[in-house]
Amino acid sequence: MNISSRLPEVGTSIFTVMSRMALEHGAINLSQGFPDFPVSGKLIDLIHDKMKEGHNQYAPMPGVAALRKAIAGVIQDTYQRSTNFETEITVTAGGTEAIFAAIAALVGTGDEVILFDPAYDSYGPAIRLNGGTPLHINLSPPDFSIDWGEVKKRITRRTRMIMINTPHNPAGSVLSQADLRMLEQLARDHDLIVLSDEVYERIIFENTTHESVLKYPSLAERSIAVFSFGKTFHATGWKVGYTVAPENLTREIRKAHQFITFSVNTPVQLALAEFLSDPENYLRLGKFYQQKRDFFLQEVKGSSLQPLPCFGSYFQLVSYEGISPKSDSAMAEWMTREMKLAPIPVSAFYKDKTDNKLLRFCFAKSEETLQKAGKILRGI
Ligand code: PMP
Repeated sequence: MNISSRLPEVGTSIFTVMSRMALEHGAINLSQGFPDFPVSGKLIDLIHDKMKEGHNQYAPMPGVAALRKAIAGVIQDTYQRSTNFETEITVTAGGTEAIFAAIAALVGTGDEVILFDPAYDSYGPAIRLNGGTPLHINLSPPDFSIDWGEVKKRITRRTRMIMINTPHNPAGSVLSQADLRMLEQLARDHDLIVLSDEVYERIIFENTTHESVLKYPSLAERSIAVFSFGKTFHATGWKVGYTVAPENLTREIRKAHQFITFSVNTPVQLALAEFLSDPENYLRLGKFYQQKRDFFLQEVKGSSLQPLPCFGSYFQLVSYEGISPKSDSAMAEWMTREMKLAPIPVSAFYKDKTDNKLLRFCFAKSEETLQKAGKILRGI
């Protein structure tokens, strides 16, 4: 049968390619973004308990009420925003489903969505599968800042949504208060919906604060904020996240969510509801990852590769400009094959494959692994 693909250029993801290559060549794998240390034993015990107590059937479509209530409490404490758990919070199968459901519900055929590259790889395909047109705006190193003047110029009558990501994967950059103010103004002037990917909200360093759309009342009125427990509790494999959005947007998101997954697994939701009652369980994350970043940077000292500033997320970008004329893909392959260390080439996050001679390393790894990686990098 002749099938015309709706995503003809989408093949095996770079993460799968690099992980496979790492395995093949016995390389240390700092390519894919997942922690290699254990999840809290307490949280695992809580999940066991919930399963043994018999909480193994469908959860309510929008999420277990106890979890949504707990999330509302966390949002109040963190962003001083009062949210109605009944009408404004929806538990999803990770941040990825949250993003897909929001786009499926709110972007129609021919609608334009502005997004910034480098970008998490699901954004563009999610827009296109739902009939929208992605409008990619490239950001550049070292700071990957947004030129809001340019964004304004790219807005048309068809622009429906603008997507942001802070703290940013892969750049490690964060948006400032001034960015959020500009966004607030643009979104209001052009009646845009904002999809704000904040899955790394807790992984933020030093004196930087996370600027959530939820902190800006008039922006929050037209925004969907996306979060992920996978990032916050070192459990990317559980795929539990959530959206926070005003009632009119949430109503639509739930219509999509209802037919994508219907609901998310019950015991993990119940366990998370209890685990969230101790703020220490998530407040320590920033410090924890800052130590990882600093440890990695210390280990990399002496390498001819140049680390870029990293304010949040668990990714460190490293420049090899001036060291090798290789493309970043060729460099990543060479490093994996010859040096036994696997990164991700940053061009993979650009629609137009812009090559800034940057490699991304995930530092959500044990010190032993980071030490080994550092030794290899010092030898380059
Ligand atoms: N957004 C960004 C920027 C991410 O890096 C990720 C995970 N890599 C996600 C969303 C998806 O989160 P989840 O794993 O909860 O689906």
